[in-house]
Amino acid sequence: MTDTIINSVKTGFEATYGYAPTGVWSAPGRVNLIGEHTDYNEGFVFPFAINRHTFVAISLRDDKLARISSSFSPEIHEVEVTNIQRTESNDWAAYPLGAAWAIQELCSSLGKSISATGFDCHIESDVPIGAGLSSSAAIECAVALALNELWDAGLDRRQLARAGQMGENQIVGAPTGIMDQSASLLGETDHAVFLDCRTLESEAVELGFAVEGLELLIIDTKVAHRLVDGGYASRRAACELGASKMGVGSLRDLSIKDLVKAREVMDDVTFRRVRHVVTENQRVLDTVQSLREKGPRSIGQLMHASHESMRDDFEISVDELDTAVETAIRHGAIGARMTGGGFGGAAIALTPVEKIGEVSLSILAEFELLGYGKPDIFPVSAAQGAKREV
Ligand code: ADP
Ligand code: MG
Repeated sequence: MTDTIINSVKTGFEATYGYAPTGVWSAPGRVNLIGEHTDYNEGFVFPFAINRHTFVAISLRDDKLARISSSFSPEIHEVEVTNIQRTESNDWAAYPLGAAWAIQELCSSLGKSISATGFDCHIESDVPIGAGLSSSAAIECAVALALNELWDAGLDRRQLARAGQMGENQIVGAPTGIMDQSASLLGETDHAVFLDCRTLESEAVELGFAVEGLELLIIDTKVAHRLVDGGYASRRAACELGASKMGVGSLRDLSIKDLVKAREVMDDVTFRRVRHVVTENQRVLDTVQSLREKGPRSIGQLMHASHESMRDDFEISVDELDTAVETAIRHGAIGARMTGGGFGGAAIALTPVEKIGEVSLSILAEFELLGYGKPDIFPVSAAQGAKREV
């Protein structure tokens, strides 16, 4: 599969630009096992890089022009590489352009001088788009890794994750945290990335799903989510309000026992947003500990509690996600939850291999019965992070 896409991204590059690319870089999408909406609250997340990747074929040019094409769209975007701005006309090219902009920004803020020459870039991907599996970070990280090498910028993987996030925030205009890029760049086979979003310290934690006869199923509901719309921004605002009412810099500074006071000093909606973040941080810590001490069959309850918290307190689930989660558990999944930013996208279900068929068929049947669109259901495994392919 990987070889096929590498060949086709090279062929696509040649067909578009009329010459062969210098190299091909890839970066994976990610799934978040637990820890949702905790990243921008300086809390804990626990994602892993998945075996679905975005590939970019790139060559530097002699001038300052950046040309971006993708198998996803017939347009070719052309922008001066030293003059990348946030404009509507960037459209999907804002993701790769954002990474190119951010590497220049980050280098200049670190006092590193680089010669940011123009480049031609062709993109191809098997990360489902808009499913909450971060096709956006996959593009950003693949481009960032490539340009870091070609521009000789010398940034390390943590800095490249930061660059990906800066680009998505400033050039795309989506106020996302750093989790997705960290998973895509720091992922390791059969490990998840336990990331402290305050210190940016991270640690790879072994999952051991396969050894225990488990697989993580993705249920892509195909319900479109749009991060740039209001839901995500309003949740962030509620978290900021909650932190200021409690007199702390971020919700990371609160623990479960602070919730008694929180309930007294803020309105009910803000309190429930805060309670989600505070309990979710604890669930991430508990999941990491439980995996280490008791193995992956012990984390099901924590996954389900996370889902309930997002459904009832953070209110970012939708009927399709709730149905996927409850049906999966009823038919043998050890744990299940919605994953990603919410308002659509995907659910995950940690499922014994012998139950995969039953869980998948039951979800398909239930969706049909309820008149929902047909979901895409497929397993993912924890893969290595971004790398140069050829
Ligand atoms: P997610 O990251 O969950 O997949 P986002 O809305 O954050 O969803 O990012 C999806 C957007 O990223 C797409 O709408 C498109 O603009 C861009 N994108 C993703 N994959 C590609 C691709 N292969 N080629 C071009 N643009 C892409
Ligand atoms: Mg995204």
